[in-house]
Amino acid sequence: MKLGIPQALSYYWYYPMWKAFLENLGFEIITSGPTNRKLVNEGCKAAVDETCLPVKTFIGHSLQLLEKADALFIPSLKSCEEKRYFCPKIIALPETTACNVKIPIYSFVINNYSSLKNSEMSYKEFAKRFGISNSRASAAFCKALKFQSIYEHFLREGYTPSQALKLLKLEEEHDFLDDKNKKLHYKIAVLGSPYLVYDSFLNLNIKKKLELLDAEMITADILTEKDISTHTSFLGKDLFWTYPRRLIAGASYFIKHNIDGIILLSSFGCGSDAIMEPFITGLCENHVPYMVLTIDEHTGEAGFITRLEAFLEMIKHKKRSYNYESCISLHG
Ligand code: SF4
Repeated sequence: MKLGIPQALSYYWYYPMWKAFLENLGFEIITSGPTNRKLVNEGCKAAVDETCLPVKTFIGHSLQLLEKADALFIPSLKSCEEKRYFCPKIIALPETTACNVKIPIYSFVINNYSSLKNSEMSYKEFAKRFGISNSRASAAFCKALKFQSIYEHFLREGYTPSQALKLLKLEEEHDFLDDKNKKLHYKIAVLGSPYLVYDSFLNLNIKKKLELLDAEMITADILTEKDISTHTSFLGKDLFWTYPRRLIAGASYFIKHNIDGIILLSSFGCGSDAIMEPFITGLCENHVPYMVLTIDEHTGEAGFITRLEAFLEMIKHKKRSYNYESCISLHG
C-alpha cells in the first residue's frame, strides 16, 4: 500500500521517523514534493480563509497526493515533549485535512505531555490496526528513533532538513551540500517555525537571498535542549508551546553569540507567533538589528528583497560606523 506524507508542517520534524517506521511495517512511502505556486493556490482555495498559510499549504500538498497515494499518513501531533504542546491547528490537522481532501487518512495521536514513553505505545497501537505484532512494531519503532536522532543531530550541526535527509539517504536533495561550507561575511539568525524557515517557496528562498547579500542563515535548530532551558530561564515560567519556546531561546542565545542580525519569520494570522513576537522584540531591542517579516499567500518578492537589502545595508553601515567613525549605535 502507498502511503502519502504531505511535505509540509510536521514533515519538517518527523519525516525520518515516520518514513523509517512505516517502511519497516511494509508500507511504501511517497511525498508530495517541494511547495510550488499551483499547490499553494489549490490549498488556499480549499481551506477556510481564516487559517494560516502553512495549513493552507499543507492542504495543497495533501491534494497533490490524491491521485498518487492510497491513503495519507497524518498523525495528530499534540505533544512531543513533557508538559509542552503544539499549536491547535497542528493537533487538528487530520480532521482539517479530512474536510478538504477526499482520501482515507491514517492517523493516531502523539501525546507525550505526561510521559515520553507514551510515544512508543501510540506507534504500536497504530501498527496493531494492520495486524502487525508488538515485537515487529517495537523493532520498527527503535529503527525509526535512530533515524530521527541522527536527523536532529544533523539539524543541530546546521544542515537544512533536505541536506539532512540526503545525508540519511532518505530523500533526493534539493539544496547543495557545499552551501554549508560557504564562507560568508555576515551571520543572520532566521527565527521561525521549520515549515516556514525551510520551505524555500513559502519563504521566497530567504536563504539564497541572504547568501547573495553575503550573509549566512542560521536557525534555532542548532540549539540543544540545554541551550533552550538556559536561554528561557529569564522568563521565570516554563513556556508550554514547543516551538515558540525554542525561538525565544534562539533570540536570547544568538544575541550572546555574535550574531549580526535577527529576522523573525512570522505567519500572518498565527496565534502563537503573536504571543512570541513581543518577547523576541524585547530581547533584540537595543542589542541587535532586528526585523519581522510576516508571510502570507499575497507576499510579493520585490518588497521582500527590498526589505532584506535594506536590513543588510543597515548592518553593514553599522559595522563600518562602529569600526571607523564612532561607537554610536545606528540600529535604535
Ligand atoms: S503555529 Fe501558527 S503558523 Fe503554525 S500551524 Fe499554528 S497557527 Fe499556523
